[in-house]
Amino acid sequence: MSRSEDLWNRRTVLKAGGLLAAGALATTAGAEAVHAATAAPDWAALDRALKGALFRPGQTGYAASHQLFNPRFDSVQPAGVVRAGSVEDVRQAILFAKKNKLVCVPKGGGHSYVGASTIANGLMVDVGPLRGLTYASNAIQIGAGARLYDVHAYLDKFARSLPTGTCPTVGIAGLALGGGMGIHTRTYGLTSDRVLSLQVVTADGVVRTASPTQNADLYWALRGGGGGNLGIVTSFRLATIGAGKLGFFRLTWPESKAAAVVKGWQRFAREAPSTSWANLHITGTSTGALSIHVVGVSTTGSATAAAAQLESFIGARGTTRSISVKTHMQAVTYLGGGTTSPRQGWLAGSDVLRGPMDAATINGLLGAVKAAARAKVAASAILDPLGGQAAKQPPGGSAWPWRSALGVIQWYSGLPAHPTTAQLRAAQGFVTNGHHAVTKFSAGGYINYLEAGRSNPSYYGGSLTRLHAIKQKYDPTNFFHAPYTFA
Ligand SMILES: Cc1cc2nc3c(=O)[nH]c(=O)nc-3n(C[C@H](O)[C@H](O)[C@H](O)COP(=O)(O)OP(=O)(O)OC[C@H]3O[C@@H](n4cnc5c(N)ncnc54)[C@H](O)[C@@H]3O)c2cc1C
Repeated sequence: MSRSEDLWNRRTVLKAGGLLAAGALATTAGAEAVHAATAAPDWAALDRALKGALFRPGQTGYAASHQLFNPRFDSVQPAGVVRAGSVEDVRQAILFAKKNKLVCVPKGGGHSYVGASTIANGLMVDVGPLRGLTYASNAIQIGAGARLYDVHAYLDKFARSLPTGTCPTVGIAGLALGGGMGIHTRTYGLTSDRVLSLQVVTADGVVRTASPTQNADLYWALRGGGGGNLGIVTSFRLATIGAGKLGFFRLTWPESKAAAVVKGWQRFAREAPSTSWANLHITGTSTGALSIHVVGVSTTGSATAAAAQLESFIGARGTTRSISVKTHMQAVTYLGGGTTSPRQGWLAGSDVLRGPMDAATINGLLGAVKAAARAKVAASAILDPLGGQAAKQPPGGSAWPWRSALGVIQWYSGLPAHPTTAQLRAAQGFVTNGHHAVTKFSAGGYINYLEAGRSNPSYYGGSLTRLHAIKQKYDPTNFFHAPYTFA
């Protein structure tokens, strides 16, 4: 297995569980229209009004136009898909959906865990073509359709970077609107913390700027309040960071050290300098055992001290150790497993840890992964640290509700592209067991790891009341209302 393959990448987890099944049934979950399309909307008029393209069922290109990253949602059939060629197209699409009482969902990179960017019988507004990038004075202007790899490759030309997640094809839109965690989180904060301003089309069809000085309440809400709730964002302006060299480490331990590793990782999340980051993977193998590894980064450029600190907190040296230094783009491709990522199936959920788990809870966490592995269900618990800069509010504040949290556990199950109901149920069973195991220490869920069946308020913590008030101001008729919106 290559180095890039065994990082946090869904293909690895899928292979590790040995659950790649052929010919599985297509199943869709969660994406349903709230309103049926009204009689005879004038689609031809919409088509004429667009600079971009409109795709309708039966037309060439329709099937591809509404695909998300997870093939599980291919069978969800929007009444129409607007590939927005301009901000005005986004406006026209919103006004059309409003007039015809169609549920309207924006699509950026299409990586929603629950298919929130597609909608049966509704209107998908894909901002994908709006992906222009401009850099000046340490800030980048990003069209909302841009993908992460393209953003990094562009910024690299200026020796600049951004704190983002790792998957090369994730969209800046969904990522930044819901937070955005990655290797730089503890040093520079979330992706959303770097947002200086946004352009957004609200439910009334008005194109607005949200910034500390214009529509400051919307600016607050759009930084961590999640996509699809308050309008369709057409561009972001973000403060960049230097693209310096990064120190990397990768350490493994045997299953017998699993509890000590979790305990040591928790101490690391609390006490390590904000320049250190460590991502813990606990994965069930096809033999029912646990495989444990940590990928760590030091933004100082050398990871030797960070690796040693983690090992000292764990009380055991890694069984295998590798330490390296990477340039900005080497790091991007290493973490992302390349420059692009093929579509893949999965089901996942999350728990935001309010503080360090006690021994019994750690055993419960390990037991949940192990039980799934023994039942031949692909299962991983992936722990991301918060803290450092992510514990501080950015200027102007933000709706991201988890400033005091220790980290986030992702319960991840790799699935075939079109899983059977039984496979989905087994994966959901693992996620549910994971939730139960850590419930005592869970503050809620991470909005970018949305899951079916979880209560929407649990993603927003103390920000929900203000989010509702802002929603009332900018979207009083609750136009942006879909299965996973907060109102
Ligand atoms: C392989 C993979 C790796 C990931 N890695 C990370 C990671 O390292 N760190 C991390 O924090 N997260 C990670 N995520 C989660 C990711 O941040 C979320 O899935 C995110 O919502 C994806 O954004 P998107 O634009 O690609 O998805 P989409 O499905 O297009 O959108 C997600 C949500 O935002 C809404 N939305 C999209 N565009 C707009 C817009 N222009 N205006 C308003 N709302 C919009 C959609 O309606 C939907 O509700 C990962 C996800 C995957 C699948």
